[in-house]
Amino acid sequence: AAARRQYPAQAIVDLKAMRDNMAHLVSVVGGPDSGTAVMGVVKADAYGHGLLPAALAALAGGATWLGTAQSHEALLLRKLGIGPDRCHILTWVYNGTEVPFDELISADIDVSVGSLPGIDAVAEAARRLGKPARVHVKVDSGFGRNGFTPAGFDAALAKLVPLAHEGVIQVIGQWSHLAVADSPDVPEFVASTDRQIEAFKDFTRRMEAAGLPPQIRHLANTAATLDRPEIHFELTRPGIGLYGYEPDPAMGTPRDWHLTPAMRLQAQLGTVKDVEAGHGISYGRTYLTPDNTSTAIVPLGYADGIHRSASGFDMEGAKHVEKPGGPVRIMTAAGPRLYRVCGRVCMDQFIVDLHGSAAELGVHEGDTVELFGPGRGEEYAEPTADDWARAADTISYEVFTCLRNRIPRLYE
Ligand code: PLP
Repeated sequence: AAARRQYPAQAIVDLKAMRDNMAHLVSVVGGPDSGTAVMGVVKADAYGHGLLPAALAALAGGATWLGTAQSHEALLLRKLGIGPDRCHILTWVYNGTEVPFDELISADIDVSVGSLPGIDAVAEAARRLGKPARVHVKVDSGFGRNGFTPAGFDAALAKLVPLAHEGVIQVIGQWSHLAVADSPDVPEFVASTDRQIEAFKDFTRRMEAAGLPPQIRHLANTAATLDRPEIHFELTRPGIGLYGYEPDPAMGTPRDWHLTPAMRLQAQLGTVKDVEAGHGISYGRTYLTPDNTSTAIVPLGYADGIHRSASGFDMEGAKHVEKPGGPVRIMTAAGPRLYRVCGRVCMDQFIVDLHGSAAELGVHEGDTVELFGPGRGEEYAEPTADDWARAADTISYEVFTCLRNRIPRLYE
């Protein structure tokens, strides 16, 4: 408790919400016996929610795979005791060819290959170890990031086929990533996803023709897991859905998709004081209090990962401009009230205008202020990470993953 008091803010992560979200995603693909498994994507410290707690919650919810971008997180999961008897793990972002393939193969971690030097490096490690590497062939079906292009795929197959025959590698999977599956309301994007699916199937046909049929095809992220049942194949890879968010607010709210946001970000108010009308707030004086009012300090800033772009203005230089800042909820004597960041977000703090007298509102130093939470839909619900994303011109994914370690994660 003493250590906790040294931190003015905390991110409270609801483990049951993550477990229930995963259980829901498993039910969406038809349940545990449907022939489609679900991977909990726990990369980047589980989108800021904490690698191990999120991984365990995902497994408790029925995930049978875990996925991390970087090797060190995949290895950490194994070192923490999540063995191959519990789940498969796939990892896919490497440091060129300087990859710890030896360690990954030894730890029964599946690896992605999407380049010719990548195939060579995996094969060398597997030969050295005398243990076949479990490989997922990454194909670029139209995302333009990792993976073999259609034009480069014959050269890849020419390397993969003899390695598979020799038993140096096992071709477990074929996989790819979708660019715009989160925009079902935009016809061009739906058509683009359709083209990606066709390209993906074409790669499968080429693998089959080469005698390397993939056992497990996977293409669907959260958006496609929720909205594109025809491409669930043998495995889907939801990330943001595990944490309780839909990928894009254009798809609706988490509740529309039966998801519960797992993280609540809250802090305790610092200085609360009365200021007069026309008082400049924070760096650059981009906000001038329109009336006599009280302000309250929220002890979170860009060094905590609160986006400076979530600042709120009513002035830019001498010009009047309106730019709403990120939202917060404070419980006042009269009930919950929503306020916004006023002026620039600083390194460690930001300021809200209470638009009234703190004494009359019943707002005090030490009161809890909520930045985001499940936002259950009632009037004056706390804001959500989507609201912060809107204020900062970004996406919920970035809101979570930017939260720094000096905000302790507490689990309930
Ligand atoms: N698969 C890959 C390769 C990814 O990079 C990601 C995350 O960006 C995911 C799956 C999960 O995506 P989402 O969080 O949109 O479900």
